[in-house]
Amino acid sequence: THTFGPAQARDFLQRYADKISAHAQELTDLDAAIGDADHGSNMQRGMQAVVAALPAEGNPSALLKSAAMALISKVGGASGPLYGTALLRAASSQTDKAEWTSEDLRAALEAAYAGLIERGKAQVGDKTMLDAWRPALDALQKGTPEAAATAARAGSDATKAMLAKKGRASYLGERSVGHLDPGSVSSALLFEALAEALA
Ligand code: ADP
Ligand code: MG
Ligand code: MG
Repeated sequence: THTFGPAQARDFLQRYADKISAHAQELTDLDAAIGDADHGSNMQRGMQAVVAALPAEGNPSALLKSAAMALISKVGGASGPLYGTALLRAASSQTDKAEWTSEDLRAALEAAYAGLIERGKAQVGDKTMLDAWRPALDALQKGTPEAAATAARAGSDATKAMLAKKGRASYLGERSVGHLDPGSVSSALLFEALAEALA
């Protein structure tokens, strides 16, 4: 069983910020192919703001809420409100707990996923970040955070063959096929950061 306490929440956010920085160019290049070439810079700006705003104290919910607010206020693109909503829903689902159990974390991530759908109105198969999130959460029901990260990456890889139905990439129609969805790649990084923080 994996405990998600303040130290793990902080470590997760720091690791995610580091991974976004390390992959910012790659994310922007992916977005250049089927979007407007800003996903890496959007996420890097957002996650730098998240780390800068992190309060010195607070339970996992408070830390994730702070991160959500930073993303929503600093990222203008689709990804800021989407990731911000996801983190805010996760935070709001477990407000009073000093430490989350594996089951609390799973419930929080399902709440985050419901927020992504409510906000973006996309479905699995539309070639969005949902195509990394849904397989990750399915894997987490039976397996470990590492299994979730592996499933997120496989889900992201599978977006290459998909036709985009939501977001800017959908404007390209058939020409969106053959390229990875950038938001699914940043979501795979998120589940990898989470697995590392829980290891
Ligand atoms: P923008 O498209 O506004 O420039 P970004 O480039 O930062 O924003 O983010 C693009 C990513 O956001 C896409 O790769 C996709 O994964 C995700 N995305 C876009 N629209 C939606 C949506 N309606 N639902 C879920 N994810 C979406
Ligand atoms: Mg973009
Ligand atoms: Mg943009």
